Amino acid sequence: DPMRTAEIRQRWLDYFESKGHTLVPSVSLVSPDPSILFTIAGMVPFIPYILGSQEAPYKRAASVQKCIRTNDIENVGRTTRHGTFFQMAGNFSFGDYFKEGAITYAWELLTSEQSEGGYGLEADRLWATVWEEDDESYRVLTEQVGLPVDRIVRLPRKEIFWDTGQPGPAGPCCEWFYDRGAQFGPDATGGQHPVWPEDAASEDRYIEIWNLVFDQYLRGEGQGKDYPLLGELDQKSIDTGLGVERLAYLLQGKNNLYEIDEVFPVIERLQSLTGKRYADGTSDEDDVRMRVVADHVRSALMLVGDGVRPSNEGRGYVLRRLIRRAVRSVRLLGYDEPALVELLPVSKDAMKASYTYLEDDFARISEVVYAEEESFRRTLAQGTTILDTAVARVKNGTAAGTTPVLGGDEAFALHDTYGFPIDLTLEMAAEQGVEVDEKAFRDLMAEQKRRARADALAKKTGHADLRAYESVEKELTAPVEFLGYTDTKAEV
Ligand code: ATP
Ligand code: MG
Ligand code: MG
Ligand code: MG
Repeated sequence: DPMRTAEIRQRWLDYFESKGHTLVPSVSLVSPDPSILFTIAGMVPFIPYILGSQEAPYKRAASVQKCIRTNDIENVGRTTRHGTFFQMAGNFSFGDYFKEGAITYAWELLTSEQSEGGYGLEADRLWATVWEEDDESYRVLTEQVGLPVDRIVRLPRKEIFWDTGQPGPAGPCCEWFYDRGAQFGPDATGGQHPVWPEDAASEDRYIEIWNLVFDQYLRGEGQGKDYPLLGELDQKSIDTGLGVERLAYLLQGKNNLYEIDEVFPVIERLQSLTGKRYADGTSDEDDVRMRVVADHVRSALMLVGDGVRPSNEGRGYVLRRLIRRAVRSVRLLGYDEPALVELLPVSKDAMKASYTYLEDDFARISEVVYAEEESFRRTLAQGTTILDTAVARVKNGTAAGTTPVLGGDEAFALHDTYGFPIDLTLEMAAEQGVEVDEKAFRDLMAEQKRRARADALAKKTGHADLRAYESVEKELTAPVEFLGYTDTKAEV
């Protein structure tokens, strides 16, 4: 039987425990580091130890961390390897083992037989990237691991360095890639790799599975990756992250991470709800939608499980967008009834082997999610009729060959009167080949805000307290793109 995702997690913990690591439970998806909304990597709870601002209570640690990355939202369903929620398995060393230890542990765990506690990947399919000046890693890879030189790619600093974006620790990475084979793209041959690893055509073939970060240097001021290395850190750290779902899809012989045991049951349920067959070759867009729904339903489950509630700002807004996008996608698949009541329990059942608390808390979690679907369905029902009428009118009034544009005032009315979010207007108009005058919409929003402020000031004498309006303002300017939240801080 192919290895279940829960088993991959367990093997990770068992392996690193046997190598003297303290096992540390996952922290919440609500980031313990206040500079980011969500926990975006396994290293997040260990940031103070890596920065050296706190002394680590252990020299070696290992975890399987729940993560949310909103910057990958556009990739979801379209690449084989990006989820908004995923689990990052990590091993960490704070002033203990360094490159040699990290590289040889990784190799042993990836390639040792499954009967011996490893993942049993074929050694011949593994590639590694290293910084071109990192001779130490290169030597460990060639001499100790025995990796052939033509499967080691030496990259310039801009492609392989980790840092926090400001003076402090920085260092090169060593990333492990799995070659899925010639049917997935051209060969990166000959040790020259002119197209590696950013060439889109080869992205599907060589899948990044594990990033080893070597916190080696103290860096100075500078933009991007253009900063001086001021010397070696006194206490060097190891911070690694392996994508559990990526390994799962490779080990389970699937095409992508939406087809693994923890995600695919939702797609199966979608098939029976909509009567559409996943990946039957009739519609790529429908396949993408099914993957998006399965991903977003799982992310919503995990976010609400960690206490996030839908709202118009911050984390709650991200959650709201995920739920709404899932609901919309199900409708576009042709199912008009409440869907989350069907899909959320399936996702919970698929996830509970790894996260047992989901079962106990499911009454609360599902109540939050179903209420959000209900309220969004009401918004949709009202706004859709009005939008469709406006879109039809604009199309009729536009000469053939020119793109019809919906006025900013109509988008504003939809927002103002029916609570129809602009991102939804944009998306639904685009689906019918219509653009929206977004600039005019934004001007009207700004105008409204200015008026509200002036009114408020006029009503008060003397002490104008603008604080009450800050939250309104935030609501109105809530990001319409998920891209608003950068995760470059720990993007390694
Ligand atoms: P990619 O280049 O494929 O987007 P990354 O370089 O952004 O990945 P890292 O920041 O190095 O990823 O994270 C460490 C590991 O976590 C990756 O090697 C990958 O296995 C996994 N990972 C990262 N992002 C995702 C995601 N959105 N979904 C699933 N796994 C992910
Ligand atoms: Mg990425
Ligand atoms: Mg990468
Ligand atoms: Mg990486």
